[in-house]
Amino acid sequence: MFSLDRFARDKLARLDAEALRRSPVASDRAGFPHVVQGGRRLLSFSCNDYLGMSVRREVIEAAVRATQRYGAGAGASRLVTGNSALHDALEDRLASAKGTEAACVFGSGYLANIGVLGVFAGPEDLVLVDDLAHACLMAGAQLSRAAVLRFRHNDAAHAADLLGRRRAHHRHALLVTETVFSMDGDRAPLPRLAALASEHDAWLMTDDAHGFATVPDDGSAVALRMGTLSKALGSYGGYCCASRPAIDLLKTRARSLVYTTGLPPAPLAAALAALDLIDADPDLAELPLRKARLFTDRLGIAEAASPIVPLVIGQADATLAASAQLREAGFLVTAIRPPTVPPGTARLRVAFCALHTDEDVIRLADAIGRAPWWTRGEATAQRDTACPAFS
Ligand SMILES: *Cc1c(COP(=O)(O)O)cnc(C)c1O
Repeated sequence: MFSLDRFARDKLARLDAEALRRSPVASDRAGFPHVVQGGRRLLSFSCNDYLGMSVRREVIEAAVRATQRYGAGAGASRLVTGNSALHDALEDRLASAKGTEAACVFGSGYLANIGVLGVFAGPEDLVLVDDLAHACLMAGAQLSRAAVLRFRHNDAAHAADLLGRRRAHHRHALLVTETVFSMDGDRAPLPRLAALASEHDAWLMTDDAHGFATVPDDGSAVALRMGTLSKALGSYGGYCCASRPAIDLLKTRARSLVYTTGLPPAPLAAALAALDLIDADPDLAELPLRKARLFTDRLGIAEAASPIVPLVIGQADATLAASAQLREAGFLVTAIRPPTVPPGTARLRVAFCALHTDEDVIRLADAIGRAPWWTRGEATAQRDTACPAFS
């Protein structure tokens, strides 16, 4: 045994003791919104496949055709020979969907964020990030070697205060947030942040991973509009939409674009097909939020602002127990624990999709309404104030 293995074993034991160990579970999503895990068929409220695109026949067929036509892999970096016609077509589609001059597709949303932040921020600069922003935004900010400050979640006044005190000490400043927060489901005050950015000559960057095709887009005043192909588009890959010069700079300087192989044809074609389906059926994108609102209404909690509804329980072990109880009733609602969310705010994160029927949603709400952890109001003291009340 290497000392490394002892380190790993001891660390895992500590995580086990705190109910914080996590591991991947084989999941068969072919029948989404049902997912089979360990031989059990569960109705999933944990996938980010908000429109069910990952299992749409047209999307799958587009991926198959692209693989047959262009091959399984890209063969090289996009800057060498890995840039297919599908990359260019998808970038045009994304730019026109967002109303920007141009777009750049990356290997994933994670790669997009670390690449974009590294190009537009450096050691002389300041990056202000919302306190609840996704791990890859934090990673990108840190990798950029800029001074990184967190502003209180959705608190534009706090961001204004930090900019007022610190902006003059730096060459450039970036103000970074999410349109829809991945673990909280609430939305950023974009008009106020955009005004703030313009007042202090800061560049506003939004991560639209959970907002694209699920909530109305109010990002027109945003300089850098990042997103992912892996959620409502049901595919894989990331992107950034911006002006032509900003995108041209990304394409020559973003390390997570230059030094990695281009996406294979299949996910590019799948994303294009999903965009076609969304354009052809404008009502589809309204369904996830409508389902989420049916759920919050049924439970009598604050109205959902997006397809994501957090039920904060507090402690990790209690949250795992609540998730296990729902699994017994046939529902997959994964427990989200630190460090994905702040300590003391472990939660069930309920994600709604267009394929859930109203009856599915009501059955889940009623199962939760009857659950002992819900009525007992366990750990309410640690509840985030933005989150639903446990009576
Ligand atoms: C999922 C997610 C990402 C990462 O996107 P991938 O394409 O899965 O790498 C980035 N930001 C947020 C807010 C996300 O939820």
